[in-house]
Amino acid sequence: ERIISSEAGDQDVSFEQSLRPQTLRQYIGQDKVKENLEVFIEAAKMRRETLDHVLLYGPPGLGKTTLAAIIANEMGVNLRTTSGPAIERPGDLAAILTALEPGDVLFIDEIHRLPRTIEEVLYPAMEDFCLDIVIGKGPSARSVRLDLPPFTLVGATTRAGSLSAPLRDRFGVLSRLEYYNEKQLTDIVVRTAELLETDIDWPAAQELARRSRGTPRIANRLLKRVRDFAQVRGNGAVEETLAQEALELMQVDRLGLDHIDHKLLKGIIEKYRGGPVGLETISATIGEESQTIEDVYEPYLLQIGFLQRTPRGRIVTEAVYRHFEMEVPER
Ligand code: ATP
Repeated sequence: ERIISSEAGDQDVSFEQSLRPQTLRQYIGQDKVKENLEVFIEAAKMRRETLDHVLLYGPPGLGKTTLAAIIANEMGVNLRTTSGPAIERPGDLAAILTALEPGDVLFIDEIHRLPRTIEEVLYPAMEDFCLDIVIGKGPSARSVRLDLPPFTLVGATTRAGSLSAPLRDRFGVLSRLEYYNEKQLTDIVVRTAELLETDIDWPAAQELARRSRGTPRIANRLLKRVRDFAQVRGNGAVEETLAQEALELMQVDRLGLDHIDHKLLKGIIEKYRGGPVGLETISATIGEESQTIEDVYEPYLLQIGFLQRTPRGRIVTEAVYRHFEMEVPER
């Protein structure tokens, strides 16, 4: 497993749980999203209504689950959590919805993976707080309408584009989470270190932040590993040189790239003179599936401007040559 993966691994679950901020105030960054939510939550509370349904979208590890829990907490209601792939039949969703208490927040992670038949159960639930269930089969089948308690659906997705239009239209609040900047990630690292009762100095926190690919999940994971290193090799405190050494050892370079990123970029440079080269060819060259390259490896490289997608294929940019201290070729 890559240490700089933005997806949650098994080891992350309980660790992350203990680090989650509880209130909007404690949640660092994403100022626009927070500002909007603050107003909507305040207004809903003043009117004693449930909050409108909220869709959170953006890359993994930026804090969607955390934000859903904060919304429930700020509204003073329960949070119920499920995910698109966990709901297989309409009955599964009906069971969850009928068990809600008035005002509850229902969080559906990976909502783009809900099967279409289940989405259709969700429409009247979101719009009118009711369920249409079909009882019986064949000619004697009839539809019964069940009232549900009012609730707030918080949906999370990494792929807003794969959400069907009718589902997307039923959300009142659409919020896009952005990658975090260095200062925000440094603040997150310092906060996490405090919770873990670990001493860290500002330059060390900055070093971790720079290598975290704009993602709090990665920042926290790197801190956890560097802290082990500090305990065994040092006096327990995380300072700059120690952090740098530990990160080198983990093969996370100063931009947060690891050996797989290096293999991909150097493969294009060495075998295809920097491109353009098609995805399938890259896939065959480095021995990774093209879907994995597209979904997992490429997004961050595109984000930092190291790769460009063109109609003729992928191109590595000049910044990559500079990063590897290689001569920029004439194109
Ligand atoms: P995924 O969809 O992949 O599960 P996510 O977007 O739901 O990812 P979270 O699980 O909410 O991400 O966050 C990952 C970790 O990062 C958590 O431990 C959380 O505490 C921390 N984190 C995320 N955003 C922030 C933030 N703004 N401030 C402090 N910590 C944060």
